[in-house]
Amino acid sequence: MSYTGPEFESPQPRRPRRGPLTVALAALVPGALLGWGAYAALGDGGSDSAAHTASRTASSAPAPAASRGDDGKVSGSPSAPSGGSGALQGKVVVIDPGHNPGNFRHTAEINRQVDIGTNSKECDTTGTSTNDGYTEASFSLDLAHRLRDLLEREGVTVKLTHDGDSPPWGPCVDERARFGNAAHADAAISLHADGSDAGNRGFHVILPGSVHAGAADTRPIVGPSHELGVRVAGTYLRATGEPPANYVGGGTGLVTRTDLGGLNLSTVPKVFIECGNMRDNTDAALLTSGSWRQRAAQGISEGIVSFLRVS
Ligand SMILES: [Zn+2]
Repeated sequence: MSYTGPEFESPQPRRPRRGPLTVALAALVPGALLGWGAYAALGDGGSDSAAHTASRTASSAPAPAASRGDDGKVSGSPSAPSGGSGALQGKVVVIDPGHNPGNFRHTAEINRQVDIGTNSKECDTTGTSTNDGYTEASFSLDLAHRLRDLLEREGVTVKLTHDGDSPPWGPCVDERARFGNAAHADAAISLHADGSDAGNRGFHVILPGSVHAGAADTRPIVGPSHELGVRVAGTYLRATGEPPANYVGGGTGLVTRTDLGGLNLSTVPKVFIECGNMRDNTDAALLTSGSWRQRAAQGISEGIVSFLRVS
C-alpha cells in the first residue's frame, strides 16, 4: 500500500543509537516505561502509567496552531477486510485518524457544540501543521493506514472512524467515541500530533481519567486503558526513539485527562497518542518522514497487539 504525505527524505537528524543515548533517555524516562516497552513486547503482562496542550477553534485553512479536538461519525474503512487470520482473529481495533483533512472547509459544522458528558465542546477542530505546511490531518491519516495494515497482518479486524474524504468533515468527538462502543472494540486509539512551542519535543499518550457525569462514565475503562496506554508508550518509544514529551507529563510520556469527548464517552479501552510536536523542527523532521512514520506505526501496533494478547 503506498501511503500519502511527504516522502522526501530530508536528511533526518540521526536517530539516537539504541546505545548510550537510549540508555540516557531510559535514565530520564521512568525506567518502568522503557523497560516496560520491551517487556510488553514480549507480552508478559504488568502495567504502569501518564496529555496535550493548547486548543484552537476552527478557522479556514489548517490553523498553524494545534487544537485539541478529537472525534466524529463513523464509517468503517471501506477497504478494511472484516476479520483476519492469525492469533488475534476476532479482535477488533478502532483507529481514529484524528482531525478530518476536510474540516477546514466546514467551519460551521465543526464549531457546533456537542455534549461530552462533563460539558459541551466544539464538534472538532482542524488540527495543526508543521511550519512547512504538512498538516496534522495528513500525518494522522497516513499513520492510520500504516497502523491498520500492520494490525490486519496480525489478524485483527480494524475499523477507521473516518478515511480522509469519507465523510467530508468530522465526525464529531462524541460520534467517534460511540463508533468504538458500537464496534465493541477490544481497543481504540486516536492519532494526533501536537502544535506546541518550538523546543517542546516528544510524544505523550493520553489516558482517560475517571469521569461519571451525564452520558460519560469512564470508570470501567480507566484500568484497561491505562494498561493499553503504557504498552503503547513503551513500544512507541522503543520503535521510534522519540523521547517522552519534555513539556507535559513530567517526562513520563503519559498524561491523564477528563476533558476529551473521545475518551469521556468511550466504553471501550481507549487512548490518544500525540506523536510529537509539529511546531518543533527536530520533531517535524521525523513526522514528515515516511520511513519514520512506518516505525511509529510499528511501535503503536506492537503496543496494541501486546495489550490484545493479555486482555
Ligand atoms: Zn490533534
